[in-house]
Amino acid sequence: MKPKVLVSRTIQERPLALLREHAEVIVNPHDRSMTLEEIIAELPGKAAMMAMGGDPVNERLLSSGKELKIVANNAVGFNNMDVEAATRLKIALSNTPDVLTDTTADLSFAIMMAVARRICEAERFVRAGKWVGWHPNLLLASDIHGKTLGVVGLGRIGAAVAKRALGFNMKILYNDIRKVETGLIDMLRAQFMPLKDLLANSDFVTLHVPLSSETRHLIGREELQQMKKTAFLINASRGPVVDEKALVEALQKGWIAGAGLDVFEWEPKVSPEFMTMDNVVMVPHIGSATFATREAMSFTAAKNIIAALKGEIPPNLLNPEIYK
Ligand code: NAP
Repeated sequence: MKPKVLVSRTIQERPLALLREHAEVIVNPHDRSMTLEEIIAELPGKAAMMAMGGDPVNERLLSSGKELKIVANNAVGFNNMDVEAATRLKIALSNTPDVLTDTTADLSFAIMMAVARRICEAERFVRAGKWVGWHPNLLLASDIHGKTLGVVGLGRIGAAVAKRALGFNMKILYNDIRKVETGLIDMLRAQFMPLKDLLANSDFVTLHVPLSSETRHLIGREELQQMKKTAFLINASRGPVVDEKALVEALQKGWIAGAGLDVFEWEPKVSPEFMTMDNVVMVPHIGSATFATREAMSFTAAKNIIAALKGEIPPNLLNPEIYK
């Protein structure tokens, strides 16, 4: 008899077919997230779960499946998972690094360009029928090329954004708690700076740190006041990395010039003040949302599950301690 696997959201057909070769797969039948209670009710008897980045993989959930070997997140960020509890319960956790790096970097760069060049505002202007002809001062905006980009978290995605910035002849500053490989620093011609100096010297600040207790509200009132009045904040990491109330205040008071946001502190709820601000570009957490990348992420999560079901070490294991 094949082991049973719960997939908490409908995913692409090909990775699902791969999973079905190895398991009896139960997919959330609804076109919405499962509630914690629904997941807990489903988990008994399941050997694995494929979770989405918004599922609360907490101790209650993890304890409800006595046969659970692995919970594979279909996301690279794993701030939704209680790693300590899973390790204690000897349940493997995995994520989907690398396959979404370039797609998320593309989106980060896209919202940076959109807010700097007022693309969304300009599009709304045309659609509203307000365009009456060329005007020397119509929708003047900020340049991107030749400016300074501050990357907070020069990991996989941060470095991929910085690589794109090189093509725009941008100067790159970075801040990271990890020592970044010298080859990469040389290639990017990047300069390390303490966070407050990076904030004071960047025309664009782009956030790519994981969400943790250390990075929650990494950017708050004080940090926003350290930025240039002409600078833009870009966030395609996790919403709570930015204190959203402080960001609203910064934009209202003109401490910074604008923001490009893929993620929000209380998403899908968005601070209502943003709705009337033309200098805020907002997209609904679509960093990794391309056909190819979402499929690649699901394949990665499926492969992690298959490895665990075979008694092998999942390739993207987050808690190697359980195998010691
Ligand atoms: P990564 O390769 O682990 O890069 C993150 C980097 O930030 C690491 O070098 C990390 O160092 C560093 N860091 C951690 N805490 C820091 C701090 N307080 N200050 C400065 N640097 C710090 O991860 P990634 O693959 O680039 O992904 C980054 C994050 O992007 C994910 O965790 C996820 O939340 C988010 N993401 C969002 C989307 C989206 O749809 N918007 C898509 C993909 C990913 P250590 O390794 O030492 O911790």
